[in-house]
Amino acid sequence: MQSNDSDDAIDPLRAEVRGWLDEHWDASARKPAHDFGIGWRRLVVDAGWAAPRWPEQWGGRGLSDDDALVVEEEFNRVGAPGCGQDRSHVSANTLLTFGTDTLKHEALFRLIAEEITTCLLYSEPGAGSDLAAVRTRADWNGEHWVIKGHKIWTSGARTAEYGLLLARTDWDRPKHKGLSFFFVPMKQPGIDIKPIHQITGDSHFNEVFLDDVVVPASNLLGELNEGWKVLLVGLAYERLIMGEGIGERKQGSSKDDHNRADLISMARDAGLLKDSVFRRDLAQVLAYRQLNELNVARAKMELGRDKSSPLMSMSKLAMSRILHEEARIMTKMLGAASLLDGEPHEAAADVNYRAANAYMTSIGGGTDQIQRNIIGEQVLGLPREQEADRHIPFRDSRSVTG
Ligand SMILES: Cc1cc2nc3c(=O)[nH]c(=O)nc-3n(C[C@H](O)[C@H](O)[C@H](O)COP(=O)(O)OP(=O)(O)OC[C@H]3O[C@@H](n4cnc5c(N)ncnc54)[C@H](O)[C@@H]3O)c2cc1C
Repeated sequence: MQSNDSDDAIDPLRAEVRGWLDEHWDASARKPAHDFGIGWRRLVVDAGWAAPRWPEQWGGRGLSDDDALVVEEEFNRVGAPGCGQDRSHVSANTLLTFGTDTLKHEALFRLIAEEITTCLLYSEPGAGSDLAAVRTRADWNGEHWVIKGHKIWTSGARTAEYGLLLARTDWDRPKHKGLSFFFVPMKQPGIDIKPIHQITGDSHFNEVFLDDVVVPASNLLGELNEGWKVLLVGLAYERLIMGEGIGERKQGSSKDDHNRADLISMARDAGLLKDSVFRRDLAQVLAYRQLNELNVARAKMELGRDKSSPLMSMSKLAMSRILHEEARIMTKMLGAASLLDGEPHEAAADVNYRAANAYMTSIGGGTDQIQRNIIGEQVLGLPREQEADRHIPFRDSRSVTG
């Protein structure tokens, strides 16, 4: 059913969402209709619209994919944020799938209300593309887990309430089989966070040193030594949102989000629409974006089945190419002016940021080369990459013995 159907023809669910939004959201001002005494996103959570596919027990409505899309359409129609967390929230979806009830009660609602944030404590010096080589250790001391190790490139660590951490719990098993996955409270002694400065001028990611960090038993996600399975689900959500182009613009940028019309009108202003080679490049990147939107929609359907799919790798790889290509095209449109930067040169600053930041999608969440490996092995059926240390005890591998 179309979202613009007249009120008397629309299905009951659409009518319910529409009625709720009419009462609570001022579409023309794009803000809550009144002061409800709680934040907008908490209001959305309490009404069951933040994650409508989830079970009612955890703040959802148990809706099918088709019905949940109706809810999302209505929120999008009036520009209201807060819906769709059941498809896009990396930590919350991982927690819902693998977390203990204790931990879900503690964190799930606050996560989807965006009252707290998380960070991903996966990469280490020596374990990036080869994540199964992590050497951060978690040992059980009879009362709780004790974590010791060094993580790197951790986005958002300074503000995060929890970190999703991959650590080794059995050194005698092969590298993928001795890992466990923890939800680590970040505001505690023993965690030392050092910001890393990026070429964009941002400082989103950090080094994180963990020294005898304490984690309760209820914060283990999934089974002991089965952390790799949990990680794959978390990575699937992460690759999907990167495939959608998250974070392509500088936070707080005064410019509206880029869209097709922007690129075309920029090209027209630069007098480049008459250039047939340029026009072909522009058409190609716009077509990639459109195709990728369809691919992301397919990938989202697969996420409901709790598995990591090569579709997420394809979307992420495509978005990486799109962002680099758009930055190149925009630089060409500005010509020599693209060498300028800083506040008085807003257009150039924006394009420069895009060019430098496109690497976020080609490296973060697994590099382009790793996505190609996944597609090669899982879609094209090419032989698996050789891994000499895949089946031996991790303590005998070169990651440990050097
Ligand atoms: C913006 C940004 C944000 C990030 N945020 C986080 C975060 O929040 N949490 C976190 O844990 N990590 C984060 N990362 C880290 C990111 O996941 C790693 O940088 C990435 O997985 C690559 O690991 P590496 O840097 O160790 O490079 P390496 O693994 O050392 O790779 C170096 C090069 O070798 C290539 N290569 C390696 N192995 C293979 C192979 N088998 N086949 C073909 N080529 C290969 C790689 O593609 C790459 O070009 C972030 C990175 C960026 C850029």
